Amino acid sequence: MSRAVGSIAPHGGQLVNRVLRGALREAALERAASFPQVQLTAMAVSDLEMIAVGAFSPLTGFMNKDDYDNVIDNMRLSNGLPWTIPVTLPVDDEVAAGLDEGQEIALLDGDYLMGVMTVAEKYLADKEREAREVYRTTEDAHPGVARLFRQGKWLLGGEVFMLNGPKNAEFPELRHEPAQTRRMFAAQGWRRIVAFQTRNPIHRAHEYIQKTALEIVDGLFLHPLVGETKADDIPADVRIESYRAILRDYYPAERVLLGVFPAAMRYAGPREAIFHAIARKNYGCTHFIVGRDHAGVGNYYGTYDAHHIFDEFDPDELGITPLFFDYTFFCKKCGGVVSAKTCPHSKEDWVFLSGTQVREMLERGEMLPEEFTRPEVSRVLMEGILAKRQPPQSES
Ligand SMILES: [Zn+2]
Repeated sequence: MSRAVGSIAPHGGQLVNRVLRGALREAALERAASFPQVQLTAMAVSDLEMIAVGAFSPLTGFMNKDDYDNVIDNMRLSNGLPWTIPVTLPVDDEVAAGLDEGQEIALLDGDYLMGVMTVAEKYLADKEREAREVYRTTEDAHPGVARLFRQGKWLLGGEVFMLNGPKNAEFPELRHEPAQTRRMFAAQGWRRIVAFQTRNPIHRAHEYIQKTALEIVDGLFLHPLVGETKADDIPADVRIESYRAILRDYYPAERVLLGVFPAAMRYAGPREAIFHAIARKNYGCTHFIVGRDHAGVGNYYGTYDAHHIFDEFDPDELGITPLFFDYTFFCKKCGGVVSAKTCPHSKEDWVFLSGTQVREMLERGEMLPEEFTRPEVSRVLMEGILAKRQPPQSES
């Protein structure tokens, strides 16, 4: 299939499609009934979908040891292509002991069959090294490291096929796959598309960043992550509602596409910024917004580490252009949203609230300052947070 004129090539050149449909799927379902069953972790559920729909092109399965080692040590696949995050299928000792290389297995989420895989390799994870290199820490206070240390120490590598999409997939109407977004961008006549990754509501600062970027491209792909996140992040359904509210009133409909990014959050900071950019290239985006402390958590990464890591790659081999943004905020003296790069004033003039302050205000039923968040968004967030804060049921 030829690509539309002007569209950006997927990472590695080919958009991967490992979703079985029709008669092939029926046949695979029948065969899978006799395969040994392997439980997917929550992250592997996300990863299987991302691989299958081509968001992780050129990956066609969970990584073998050669790719795993290269990604950890060199931020590249074994074929030399940039790739910064291991995409692996962890299993515990007991499951690993029952499996041989070359065997076909069924991949399950609970009792729900999602896919099949041919086990090409079974190998041991090097968790300490993975944590140190990928997350830059071995402290299990880091949510990504904690998850890594919790999971089984064996990894299964091999090609996958998805037979059923994730059960209870949220926001089906926004779950555009890379092949679809590429078609949608082409249909809109957009040649240059900027993607915005987020796991937060859109406050004025984010709106400023998105619109500044949109000034120099044709379309904005607002692509919030809805895979597994930390428990204290704002729930995805509330965020989606807040995105809809702000898009309806403040964005030009013909220049924005809202879609959800079903990936699980790693909180791997700089490495995840590259990973997020490559995935958005697969969705057909040409530009990617990287804010301060992108995909960071706590104080594990320097404010601009996620910008600097792009210098470690040749721009051509990444193939998507990062747009770097500084710390942004409303400045009373400037009379608008500005950034640390463009405002000469001092902190006393800036309207800034921490994530904790935002949460506390909303839980008290207080609107956020209009300079910080548009009232339409405040309202949705407040209602969402209050609705989820029903008093706990008694245990008995
Ligand atoms: Zn100022």
